[in-house]
Amino acid sequence: MKINVITMFPEYFEGPLDVSIVARGIEDGALVVVLHDLREHGLGRHRQLDDSPFGGGPGMVMMIEPMAAALEPLRDTHRVLFTPSGAPMSQETLDRWAQIDDVTFVCGRYEGVDQRVIDNFIDEEASLGDYVLAGGEVAAAAAIEGVARLLPGVVGNPESTEKESFRDCLLEEPVYTRPADFQGWAVPEVLLSGDHGRIEEWRSQRRLERTRQRRPDLLRNGKDSDT
Ligand code: SAM
Repeated sequence: MKINVITMFPEYFEGPLDVSIVARGIEDGALVVVLHDLREHGLGRHRQLDDSPFGGGPGMVMMIEPMAAALEPLRDTHRVLFTPSGAPMSQETLDRWAQIDDVTFVCGRYEGVDQRVIDNFIDEEASLGDYVLAGGEVAAAAAIEGVARLLPGVVGNPESTEKESFRDCLLEEPVYTRPADFQGWAVPEVLLSGDHGRIEEWRSQRRLERTRQRRPDLLRNGKDSDT
């Protein structure tokens, strides 16, 4: 899979691309990330990328010319703009993007991007959540990491990405490791029993209980999509 990122701050990605699963995915060739520095398409001596909004108002808006120059050669890719106005990114979104060979993530800054960029160059708008960040880079880094771990061979045991939160509209159950007792805080007895039937039943009950308590919306959505 190839992911292009259009950003004013390519250096932002030095950390996220250089560690752990994403770094391994890149090293193994499962993932290629190409950073496109928007500043290279900036206008004039100062490589200007933004201008004040028509109609007045606070802040600056990202201009269409640099964005068009960066996006035109990427027309064959699936182009995603990160914006608070987009559809909230979910596991389903990442599953879908992981199936696409060539994706472009566009990171906004300032007050956002001239609407004509969205109307003419963007296939999908995605949000990281209901809050406003300073730029789309955090969302792009989150998406790259979420997608990388779904690519074949990147996570050692494929079951790890099949049995986890948001699969089957459930959150994951509590997990424990050694020691079985730490200062009197014991691990649930069933997990030490070696009885796989009982363990699976306990896990399934905890998943359901936790989801009911914390994210009943997931269960409701699951029901809706089944009918
Ligand atoms: N004026 C915009 C609004 O009210 O929706 C917010 C602009 S924000 C300061 C600058 C850029 O950060 C956005 O263009 C977008 O690319 C990115 N951004 C901010 N919050 C985001 C979020 N929740 N999800 C995805 N991208 C976000």
